Amino acid sequence: MRALIVVDVQNDFCEGGSLPVEGGARVAADIAAVLHARSQRGPDAGDYAQVVATKDHHVDPGDHWSAEPDFESSWPVHCEVGTDGVAFHPNLDPQPFDAVFLKGDHAAAYSGFEGRTDDGTSLVDWLQGHAVTEVDVCGLATDHCVRATALDAVTEGFSVRVLRDLCAGVAPATTDAALTEMAAAGVTLA
Ligand code: ZN
Repeated sequence: MRALIVVDVQNDFCEGGSLPVEGGARVAADIAAVLHARSQRGPDAGDYAQVVATKDHHVDPGDHWSAEPDFESSWPVHCEVGTDGVAFHPNLDPQPFDAVFLKGDHAAAYSGFEGRTDDGTSLVDWLQGHAVTEVDVCGLATDHCVRATALDAVTEGFSVRVLRDLCAGVAPATTDAALTEMAAAGVTLA
């Protein structure tokens, strides 16, 4: 059983948001095309038994936010609960997610595996509960939350692919480093 994990395709991480990743809106549209094709075929005929999403979801994440961010470990205010920034980007349509995992209420949380559903289920428990053994990871940003999610997925024992064309990174150097690190950890770069 394979699942698709769509990481943090939210307004604040796309053009026009508070922490935009270049190409974010394009990635949102390209992921939507995959989701649309799946919904046309029906879940049983597609590549993915399950499709889930993660969201950065901050109430007060401490020094993860800064008025003088270094863009490595501190960032402008983003994905604040109650703002439009936390919403999925409108290019991400349809949004047929079987579950959504929220992370980072009160601290930085890069990995989707730090997220939980509204009823408190963790990503690893949810995936294992649905007999998922393989995951594809896409979304924003390659060098931060995609990276952390993919590495945690390997640690949790999943077979992991990162769909490079459906990701965008904050900066070229850190994106290249993240791709190298993920490949070394056993992630397939598809
Ligand atoms: Zn954040």
